Amino acid sequence: MAMAMAMHHPHFHTNPAFCWLSVRNVPNTGSDLPLHLPSPTKAIDKTKHQLMNGAPVPVTKRRKVAVFWDLDNKPPPPKAQPYDVAVELKKVAGELGEVVDVVAYANKHAFRFVPGWVKEAREQRSVLDQMELEGVEKAEQPYVCLICDQKFPINLDLKNHLLSYHEKERQRRARLLKKLKNSPLKERQVLEAKEQLYLEASRNVLIPEVGYGLEYELKRAGICVRMVSDDPQAADRALKRRMRQTIKSKNADCLFLVSDDTDYEEVLMAARSKGMHTAVLAKTVALEKSADVMLSWFEFMSGDARIVANRAAREWIIQEKPDQKPSFEEANYGSGL
Ligand SMILES: [Zn+2]
Repeated sequence: MAMAMAMHHPHFHTNPAFCWLSVRNVPNTGSDLPLHLPSPTKAIDKTKHQLMNGAPVPVTKRRKVAVFWDLDNKPPPPKAQPYDVAVELKKVAGELGEVVDVVAYANKHAFRFVPGWVKEAREQRSVLDQMELEGVEKAEQPYVCLICDQKFPINLDLKNHLLSYHEKERQRRARLLKKLKNSPLKERQVLEAKEQLYLEASRNVLIPEVGYGLEYELKRAGICVRMVSDDPQAADRALKRRMRQTIKSKNADCLFLVSDDTDYEEVLMAARSKGMHTAVLAKTVALEKSADVMLSWFEFMSGDARIVANRAAREWIIQEKPDQKPSFEEANYGSGL
């Protein structure tokens, strides 16, 4: 079912490059969403269109949204790049207000797991590598090392180059980083930037020892990822704890949950009792009673969830200020991270 959704909705990229096996040295594809969606927030100058008695809304009064993603319950759908899913999630949440926090929790299994479609793409890449090696297949563009710009006619050469040269360099860097633990921040930052570049250069070429890069891709999208123990309920418990902390600290005005699990009902109800708004993104309507707005997985995959979220934000303003009639665009006074 989920796979069918992914395949019928071109909103998400299904480029096998993500699974660390670029077919043609495909560049980072994570930044080119959206494909065809309306962007209600782009067209207006937010500072001129804030509501609340016609006066600009002070920054402190903006609705703050905290997003809680139960990755064990709702992993990224098959064939969708986790980076793209994460970016879209932030955009949907951004329609409800200013996104102040996005966390994703899962047990170790979720990060070790390699989905079938990733395995398939790896096999395809392996076949293509062999064909390139035998000269049966030829890449239109050379494979370029993102670290040193060196070009290679076949993917396997780039792979060997990364392993034999940059990987060794990386090991030396790791040793140095350990030694520099207490040295000036700037020195460490230079090394850390090099490490990021290595991860970026190798993500489409080398197969990670475990998993398929889920953690790295989500972090790359700016999500705070937490790995919990393998206990099946560990992610729920940790996420609920974090949600309660948010309610208590009043760090957000809206809790946005990604899960179908009814165990969250209580904490969502607690948020509402404190005057907070609640939004739930799920495949079912199991949490409907405790959600001010339900966003379906189907809408999310097609990109329509942003419109639904925007509409909800507009209704919330009307509820708070019945004499105000915000336009579609004006409903949003938040932004992404
Ligand atoms: Zn290189």
